[in-house]
Amino acid sequence: MTVTGKPPADPDDVELDSTYFPVSAIEHVAKEVIRAALPVDRFAMWQAYTETVRDAAEHSADRMPWDPPEEVTRITARSARRVLTAVLTAIPDEEEQARLAKIGEREAEKAEQAQADGEHGTAVPAGRYPPRRCRQCGKPFRPRRPNGLYCRPACRQAFWKLAQRAKAQAG
Ligand SMILES: [Zn+2]
Repeated sequence: MTVTGKPPADPDDVELDSTYFPVSAIEHVAKEVIRAALPVDRFAMWQAYTETVRDAAEHSADRMPWDPPEEVTRITARSARRVLTAVLTAIPDEEEQARLAKIGEREAEKAEQAQADGEHGTAVPAGRYPPRRCRQCGKPFRPRRPNGLYCRPACRQAFWKLAQRAKAQAG
């Protein structure tokens, strides 16, 4: 994942990218970059992060129209790049941008490696409720709602798709 470079002109080409990154990994990279930034720049950078990541989640092909964007757990690599670029370009000074871009690259590489190793890939979005196992994939997660059954929207969709198929075969 390259952190620098221009964001694509058309926000809708997000859907053409099939490589996904967990939002938890993107957030980790953004936070490491912001941690390394000058205190005076940090708030603008975090604001840029939250705005662009929400926008990416809203436009994610992974999201059902009725799902709130906060439930989106992964965004495309292209969106991830756009988010991190927005974080960097929130800094007025170009030299500072370049310095932090290097840190971002390094953290992104680490995150990619961790994802390949299954670390962030199996990470679950933490809700406030006690851990339980996802009804679809069986992975432990902390629900965001007291009656939450699925670790992510994709699991809920998969469950119902399978349930419908089973019903069609039975009847
Ligand atoms: Zn699941």
